Amino acid sequence: MNRILAGIIFSLFISTGYISFLVHERQQELQKLTHYASSWSAGQLVSAYYRFESWLGLYTIDETMKVDDVRLHLDIMLSQSDLLKQGDLGQYINSNKSLHELAVKLEDTLNYLDTHLEKMTRSEIQDYLKVMYSLDAPLSGLSSGALDKDINLINNANGKIQTLYAIYSATSVLLIILSAILGVLIFYQNRNILKAHLQVKSLAEELQESKEKLQIQNTKLEYDVYHDPLTKMSNRLFFWDNLNNLIQVAESNNSSVTVMLFDLDRFKEVNDTYGHDAGDMLLRQISQRLRSMNLPPDTLYRLGGDEFALLASDLSESNAVTLAKTICECINQPYTIYSTIINITSCVGIVNSDTERRSDYLYKFADLALYEAKNEGAGKIKVFRQRMLDKLQESRTLEHDMALAIMNKEFVVYYQPIVDSYSREIYSYEALIRWMHPRKGLLSPDSFIPVAEKTGMISEMGKSVLEMACREAASWAVPVKISVNVSPVQLSNKAFAGVVLSILKETGLSADRLELEVTESSLFSDNDTPMNTLNKLRALGVKISIDDFGTGYSSLSRLSRLAFDKIKIDKSFVHSISTQEDALNIIRLITGMAKSLSMKTVAEGVETQEQLDSLQALGCDLVQGYLFSKPQPSVAGAIKNGVHQNEIPALLKAP
Ligand code: C2E
Ligand code: CA
Ligand code: CA
Repeated sequence: MNRILAGIIFSLFISTGYISFLVHERQQELQKLTHYASSWSAGQLVSAYYRFESWLGLYTIDETMKVDDVRLHLDIMLSQSDLLKQGDLGQYINSNKSLHELAVKLEDTLNYLDTHLEKMTRSEIQDYLKVMYSLDAPLSGLSSGALDKDINLINNANGKIQTLYAIYSATSVLLIILSAILGVLIFYQNRNILKAHLQVKSLAEELQESKEKLQIQNTKLEYDVYHDPLTKMSNRLFFWDNLNNLIQVAESNNSSVTVMLFDLDRFKEVNDTYGHDAGDMLLRQISQRLRSMNLPPDTLYRLGGDEFALLASDLSESNAVTLAKTICECINQPYTIYSTIINITSCVGIVNSDTERRSDYLYKFADLALYEAKNEGAGKIKVFRQRMLDKLQESRTLEHDMALAIMNKEFVVYYQPIVDSYSREIYSYEALIRWMHPRKGLLSPDSFIPVAEKTGMISEMGKSVLEMACREAASWAVPVKISVNVSPVQLSNKAFAGVVLSILKETGLSADRLELEVTESSLFSDNDTPMNTLNKLRALGVKISIDDFGTGYSSLSRLSRLAFDKIKIDKSFVHSISTQEDALNIIRLITGMAKSLSMKTVAEGVETQEQLDSLQALGCDLVQGYLFSKPQPSVAGAIKNGVHQNEIPALLKAP
């Protein structure tokens, strides 16, 4: 289309130019017409000549006429004769030889008269007139010839003008047609432009609409990114962003930053007991309560699961603790979910620092404080202290060393006898692990067992203790039992029973010589694995002893579901047997209960004769403690060699 338009515009330009050229040409031709005066000049000259001849004739016959009158006409004639040399006539005459000769003749004739007129007589003039008459015919020929030439010229010019006019008309028509086409095209083009304009407009409107939609979607997306879908609280991402912002502000203001981490106690139990719907509802209600506290915006966050967080700045430590308490009190109020009243508490870890500006460190410190609070029990609030970090670092080093220790076989087993409280005859030996640390020396299990349990290394460690102990016991000449401690972590592993059986098989120790000491807490697991494992092992003849009895929360129903062989009274009761009435009563209660359940009782940590006397009086079957022997790297020679009876040799006795 654009090409057509350009072509038309170009043609218009050419046509208009051509028309201008035609107009100019016409002008030239018309001008030529005005120049065609040779016939007129010739006519003039010829008629002047004739008139002069008449005057001259008249002069020859009229005596009254003066020569001056004739001179006047001669002068006129002479001036007229100049026409023969000038302009178009002059050119016309010069172009023809005979005409040129005629002109010369005429000039000569007139010049002769000019010089001789006054001297000539009337009869001489009359004679000369005859000479002059001889020029009449050629002069009229000249006049008619000039006229013919002019008529020809005019006809030519006319013809040319006509041609020009025809071309002009044709070009004008072309111009009109082109203009019309141009008009149509412009109209068409305009319509297209209008159409395109409308299309662009509607496109722009659509674009605007989708832009608005996108903006709404973006806002929603941004909201979703920074909010928890369940509680609509700000989420972990928001927490980190704001923590970093808060640190920047605190840095410029030289103020403190507070991070609090809340972790609900026993929330898993709520989920397990009432279902996940109830758990979700509880979380929603907690978030509503937190919102109703009207704390400043961007203060509270849900980090995930049952973890919440609070961020604040410029808060003193005591104010932070007070705020944590207020929030806990708010959380601790009972909830009604599906017409059931649910109580829940929360532990809090707080870090309040005006020097630490690393967000991940602040979070870690608050988390360490929370870990400590959790360890202390439900509803506890703890503020971060440097010692917590030192402890963590120590346990990290310990973890690292422990992994090497297993490979380097740095763990050894010590043995401590358990004896009959009356006869002092050795009933069994308890295997107690020790760590021969290359730098720290001999380490007691209390310093590394918790770390081993946390990292899961206890499984490997426990297996090797069991193996060493069984191998050792299998080598004894006297078949006393071997007691091995089992961690709750080991017991919750379904493969544990298989491990025990394969070790028994491998070492050749009969199952009834093995006694496993398990703690009460092992049995407070969510699943039945520990119970099933113990029942399975017991059915094969392995004895089960419940260790540290009285320190945990034994439920009688659970105890009755698993028939233990022995109850081991914790040393804390034995130690206070002579000082605290309660301890004595508890031991009495335990021995009584054991008897009624047909179990034996063992008292550990017996250090004095006095304690032994009391235990004997209470009917405690077996005893263990420094009074008889400390844990030793090897068992008594008597047991090993079977030379003597299995009483405790003097060298193993505690001083
Ligand atoms: P536990 O099972 O209650 O072991 C008794 C602890 O009391 C032993 O500490 C023992 O040395 C100590 N003890 C014995 N008689 C007396 C006494 O008269 N007075 C005092 N004050 N203490 C006495 P040990 O050997 O340091 O073991 C500590 C704990 O480490 C054990 O407590 C046991 O729970 C755990 N443990 C030891 N070996 C192992 C093991 O191989 N596996 C597992 N899972 N835990 C082990
Ligand atoms: Ca034990
Ligand atoms: Ca114990």
